[in-house]
Amino acid sequence: MGLEAAAAALEDTGSKQKRLLREAHAAAVDLLINKGLYAGIDATTEIGDLVQVILAEGQPVVFDTYCVGCRDKSTFRVQTERVGTKSISSRPGQIIIQPRTFAVQVVCQRAAHIYSYIFTKAADDVVKIGQFPSAADVSFGELRSIDKALDPIDRRELGTALGLFAHGTVLGAFVYLRRVFERMIWRAHERQTQAGHPIEGFATMRMDQRIAALKDELPVSVVQNSGVFSVLSIGIHELTEEQCGKHFPVLKSVLFQMLEQEEHKRKAAIAASETEAALQRILSDPKA
Ligand SMILES: [Zn+2]
Repeated sequence: MGLEAAAAALEDTGSKQKRLLREAHAAAVDLLINKGLYAGIDATTEIGDLVQVILAEGQPVVFDTYCVGCRDKSTFRVQTERVGTKSISSRPGQIIIQPRTFAVQVVCQRAAHIYSYIFTKAADDVVKIGQFPSAADVSFGELRSIDKALDPIDRRELGTALGLFAHGTVLGAFVYLRRVFERMIWRAHERQTQAGHPIEGFATMRMDQRIAALKDELPVSVVQNSGVFSVLSIGIHELTEEQCGKHFPVLKSVLFQMLEQEEHKRKAAIAASETEAALQRILSDPKA
């Protein structure tokens, strides 16, 4: 191999390493923030092995997420601390068992708020076995910031979805999220109908068709990623836990975004009607 070819090969290896590390960082953050208890990652895969190193050895991974202490988005940094440092033996003089449990703290860089996690190695997997505050607490905190926009039934069912997800009941969580999402799509259709543009055949459309038809009423991210939402048209008996687990965090964040947008529209409509009423008062009596 010539010098140039060797340099190119080295660069290829370097960029592959960088890409793997980027993916592993994202997977580690996903496991910390989005996944419920008893979720794990297969440490025998290339990415899983890197995630294990990042979490167990502590690497300066930095990411943004909602902070329950700041009540706002904040930047967090991963720090690791060994909890079980002693090896133990099954019986004196017999098998020595190395420590396999470790703690991870992620620290809010604004005000040093701490999220704590415990992981353990079980067979080939690294599994999250403890977390505080719970995934539900974090999501509820996030939810509180849009609380005013919520119908009581949406609030209750979102709460159930977040609670079930935090405890690893992924399919159940998904069903509740889907109910909230479907009501939002129907409300968007109602708004469009009231504006004088009803959609023909809406009731029998698939979810991706509904989203396309309602593109002016929905956030851009929903319209651009309608493929993700087509999973909402699938019968519950056809969905796998894996599919639900993969889609839940995406659907959740889009739902929050949609709820914020609904609230924004509601406020804008109120402001517009108040302005209109004030203008009418001036017009009806210009000298007042
Ligand atoms: Zn904070």
